Amino acid sequence: MIVQKFGGATVETPEKIRQISTRITEALTRYQKIIAVVSAMGKTTQQLLQLALTMSPRPNLRELDMLLTTGERISASLLTMALIEKGVKAVSLTGSQAGIITDENHFNAHIVDIRPERLARLLQHHDVIVLAGFQGVSMEQKNITTLGRGGSDTTAIAIAAALGAKACHIIKEVPAIFTADPKQVKSARFLKNLSFDECARLTFWGAKVLHYRSVKLAQRYSIPIFVGPVNLDSEHGTWIQDQFEQTEIPMYEKPHFFAITAHRAALKITIICDSCLDAQTQIGTTLKEHQIIDPLILHVYQSDRKKVNVLLTSPEEVIDQIKNLLPHQSRFTSVTPTSIVSIHARPVTSPALQELVIQKIRPWAEQIDHMFVSDQGMHFCVPPEHHEVIIKTLHQLLETAESSKE
Ligand code: ASP
Ligand code: MG
Repeated sequence: MIVQKFGGATVETPEKIRQISTRITEALTRYQKIIAVVSAMGKTTQQLLQLALTMSPRPNLRELDMLLTTGERISASLLTMALIEKGVKAVSLTGSQAGIITDENHFNAHIVDIRPERLARLLQHHDVIVLAGFQGVSMEQKNITTLGRGGSDTTAIAIAAALGAKACHIIKEVPAIFTADPKQVKSARFLKNLSFDECARLTFWGAKVLHYRSVKLAQRYSIPIFVGPVNLDSEHGTWIQDQFEQTEIPMYEKPHFFAITAHRAALKITIICDSCLDAQTQIGTTLKEHQIIDPLILHVYQSDRKKVNVLLTSPEEVIDQIKNLLPHQSRFTSVTPTSIVSIHARPVTSPALQELVIQKIRPWAEQIDHMFVSDQGMHFCVPPEHHEVIIKTLHQLLETAESSKE
């Protein structure tokens, strides 16, 4: 049995859904049973969000989840129809029908339990279960919830864990994890292997290739993830697991860079208050009052005696809501869009490596008002309009590292 997840771009059109059904039918010669988790077709979730915004600038979150989950229901039912048409014994399930139980949060719910009895029963008489990704049902209120943007990956890993699957395949249009977003950096290379920790870093710092939470879940349950292409003949694909052949990695502690990521949409917010701790609470309560989901707060630091800066990120639509709300609230003195570009290294503590990065990024010295170093890498707040060229420039460091390895 295997869990295979199909990303939104791979099921964008009826034609592509038919192709996926062929791929699954062929895979049935290798696997006895397949759980196929699907995302919504193409940009459906985005369109549904826009639709919700025509009703309210800050839609009720329970109702928003009711709306957004329909996206995955469409692709799940269509794929199942295509499979049945090919003579495959297939059936679709929503998250709730599959027993995916979450906490009570809307738009960013977390899975707290899986009750897979129904799914297991259906597996006895079906070869493929198509599962609508990104959704569950809340434990107490029994409301329909969603798992956060990109959350179908988390559905796939969670179900793989619940059923004891040996691995989880994440099938995407972008056929692997690359050293940078290949849409931005033409010379980006694909990474054959990553550890869970490394992959978690990349996704935490903005790589959209996988849902961050899915990587952490896979790590917790030791489920290897394969991020691979629709086309089975392609040599692309990245394995994420803890043990891998270290062929790609330089010896011992020899440092090297391995990827560049970015949070394109982030905000730097300045608040009048006495301490960092107050600033965090202040943002939390103000957003909650206005039904805006919690952002990911990345850094909080005092800029002078009565001012604190907060650096945060969130899905773009939430960033827009925050940007529209906070400037009208007292004590919020400025809300500035920024991008956070991160360069990831093994190990990042090498001063020589840090110096190389500083030299490369120096032409933007005046525009970078904030940087920090973590065990994840080096992170720079840059003006959004420059983030792409900065990524390209920093990526040259990976290219020279590559050639020096030859
Ligand atoms: N369709 C949802 C989204 O676009 C979930 C997913 O794609 O995983 O965020
Ligand atoms: Mg999607």
